[in-house]
Amino acid sequence: MAETAPGLTVRAAAKINPHLGVGGLRKDGFHALDTVYQAVSLYDDLTVAAAPGWSLALTSAPYVDAGAVPLDDRNIVARAAGLLREAGGLLREVGGGTPGAEAHIHKLIPAAGGMAGGSADAAAALVALDRLWGLELPDDRLLALAARLGSDVPFALVGGTAHGGGHGEVVTPVLDDGSWWWVLVPSPVGLSTPAVYRRFDELNPSAGAATSSDALLAAIESGEPELLADALHNDLQAAAIDLRPELGELIAAGEAAGALRGLVSGSGPTCVFLCAGATEARLAAEALRASYDVVLTAHGPVAGAHVIARHAHEVVQ
Ligand code: ATP
Repeated sequence: MAETAPGLTVRAAAKINPHLGVGGLRKDGFHALDTVYQAVSLYDDLTVAAAPGWSLALTSAPYVDAGAVPLDDRNIVARAAGLLREAGGLLREVGGGTPGAEAHIHKLIPAAGGMAGGSADAAAALVALDRLWGLELPDDRLLALAARLGSDVPFALVGGTAHGGGHGEVVTPVLDDGSWWWVLVPSPVGLSTPAVYRRFDELNPSAGAATSSDALLAAIESGEPELLADALHNDLQAAAIDLRPELGELIAAGEAAGALRGLVSGSGPTCVFLCAGATEARLAAEALRASYDVVLTAHGPVAGAHVIARHAHEVVQ
């Protein structure tokens, strides 16, 4: 007999850091950050359906290294589910039983690409499972859970353009009336974020306060792509290029192809190129495709994790 169970799909965006100022290593093991995030139109979709147990599946774009994404308890979606169960008191309510879900990630954000794909999935899981399990936690509780899952996860909930302080988890939305066009070039093999930070520490043994984002925020306010291009800044870029020298060549190639400016995205290896507009982005992407297999375009800012569909899912008894 077939019955139906409720389900929903939540969409979460990749992020770019137009400014990533990194300070010295703190005693708690984190680096102080002064960063600006922007959510861009490259998405992972997480679909969840009510189920007695827990399962997680993944489909992805051909350029995503799906082998880099564990599907067991290490997946950040499973970790988000665990935190939500705890926070919602669900273990108590159902006498030790755990509410389940059938979860499916459709991934377009490169894995270990410096675009916070895992953080996007975590934010999507918090929104989706909060609804599926009828918890309706207030936004500040979801933001607190997000910060426990990772420094970039609160921003993935909020979306748009935002300033990130603390170690990235203290997110303040920024007014952004601009429409920014980016070309994105992922690498077939990811870079480990901790490895890039370690290299940063080696290259900057006496790093003090994080580089200020003030100039970048002023450029965002101007709405002028040329001004934003001049202000783009990533303190991790030298470390990422040191580990992957070919990223330096990629940045030069993108700028030669007509982009206003190229930048390593977060900890890399994805490189992002700001263009003057949609047409310029399409032209630069076309030129880069002569030498690079995967070249995408995206615009920002876009929304944080949000429900895009509700559906009934067939369950075979
Ligand atoms: P960031 O920019 O936040 O440092 P990233 O984009 O470089 O992140 P992610 O794709 O978020 O990297 O993933 C980093 C690691 O996290 C992966 O190599 C993988 O082992 C693990 N991981 C756990 N869950 C996920 C998930 N749902 N999607 C991607 N990676 C995941």
